[in-house]
Amino acid sequence: MTKASEERMKAAREVLTQYILTKHCRKTPERYALLDAAYSITGQFTVDTLQEHVAKKMMISRVTVYNNLELFVKIGLVVKHPTPGLVKYEVCYQNNTHHQLLCTVCGSSTIFLDSELSDSILKRKFLKFHSTNCSVIVYGICSKCRARQAREKKKLNIKNTKK
Ligand SMILES: [Zn+2]
Repeated sequence: MTKASEERMKAAREVLTQYILTKHCRKTPERYALLDAAYSITGQFTVDTLQEHVAKKMMISRVTVYNNLELFVKIGLVVKHPTPGLVKYEVCYQNNTHHQLLCTVCGSSTIFLDSELSDSILKRKFLKFHSTNCSVIVYGICSKCRARQAREKKKLNIKNTKK
């Protein structure tokens, strides 16, 4: 793990601790193990992949993993991606350069970095809102799906001409 990502994990832990203290939640080791595991994953992950990841340290039930992820989303440490079919999560705290290309057909996504894009959005003033980080999702169709669609269209045309 790089020094930058270690610092980021530390900062995220601090946010969680503050939340727990103000809301008087239980300060369970599971929560921190899950947060650490999430912050050690690069890119997107599902409830199952996070559960597998944390299993090296601790056995945590799927429901607990899910509930904690929802808490992390609520306090801005993790974002939920609107992937068709499967919910994916990604850490977002102090991570303002990650954007993604999302295929609306198969749900695959590719991460790209563009700090200029993030900076230009973060420079904007929003009414009654203080922005801290951002992630842009570009919706579209991946090349594999485009190729498949082209093949299916061709097949359909052949069928039609045979009639
Ligand atoms: Zn696709």
